Amino acid sequence: MSDRTVPILIAKARDGDPRSVARLISMVENGDPALPEVAATLAPYAGDSQVIGLTGSPGVGKSTTTNELVRALRRSGRRVGVLAVDPSSPFTGGAILGDRIRMQEHTTDPGVYIRSMSSRGQLGGLAAATPQAVRVLEGAGCEVILVETVGVGQAEVEVASLADTTLVLLAPGMGDAIQAVKAGILEIADVFVVNKADRPGADATYRDIQGMLGLGERVPGDWRPLVVRASAVKGEGIADVVAAIDKHRAWLETTGELRKRRERRAAVEVEAIALGTLRARLGNLREGTALSELAFRVAAGEIDPYAAADDLIKGL
Ligand code: GDP
Repeated sequence: MSDRTVPILIAKARDGDPRSVARLISMVENGDPALPEVAATLAPYAGDSQVIGLTGSPGVGKSTTTNELVRALRRSGRRVGVLAVDPSSPFTGGAILGDRIRMQEHTTDPGVYIRSMSSRGQLGGLAAATPQAVRVLEGAGCEVILVETVGVGQAEVEVASLADTTLVLLAPGMGDAIQAVKAGILEIADVFVVNKADRPGADATYRDIQGMLGLGERVPGDWRPLVVRASAVKGEGIADVVAAIDKHRAWLETTGELRKRRERRAAVEVEAIALGTLRARLGNLREGTALSELAFRVAAGEIDPYAAADDLIKGL
């Protein structure tokens, strides 16, 4: 890669060239050695966009809802980026979204950038990759960035909670309310969307969630998550979802919470990068490294694993 490659890519991305955006995100995904330069060049553009996380069990209607949200946001003239993140998939390059027919209406819109991402080469995993990809989209002028995760596991919760506003989607009859509590999702949701409100049982799910929110203790001044009913497939209730997002956004700004959340996000990112770097430097068993030597001694009963770990860290 020549010295000028990164600045040229970023200049083109800022002009709205989708290929350059795609290349930069691939670099993030693959843990390209030029990433520190990408990050440094993008730094001045950070912090302007609104980041919305969207999570929920497979089948609740995330991609349908995302599609409707994109449409609504485009109507208000905002440039939108969509990042579909799959923590469990080693595949990449739009493979997931290639199948997402519902998104296709936006593929010809230059005001929308859609991309899926895994973290096959990122040392810090998605905790490091997602904020970097968000920066790329931010640098490319996306005013709103939707980060959609595929499931409700720990990794999804982690990624979704990196947003300014986190939406959790539920649907009637999926035992979702219970699952949400188990997965720790109740804590990260700023807005609950009870989707498939056209189906029986939606009111019960709505009441379940309201009931659970009522049980939790809340410090005065804290945000009480909003619960909104929608039927994404019919395009109903989407305006309410947007209104809830806007309301949360206003709360974030007036309370100073926006700044705090972004600092938290930055901390997670820096920590993930640092841990990734450390892990790489600690070496592995194959290379005849300090690690393999220590492992040999621990297995032979010569030293204990804590002492070995101390040795390993001291040797860095
Ligand atoms: P995802 O896996 O969470 O991304 O869910 P999808 O958006 O792919 O939706 C899963 C299925 O539910 C699809 O067949 C959708 O057409 C359907 N679906 C999505 N939203 C609604 C809705 O509001 N009502 C009903 N009845 N079906 C919906």
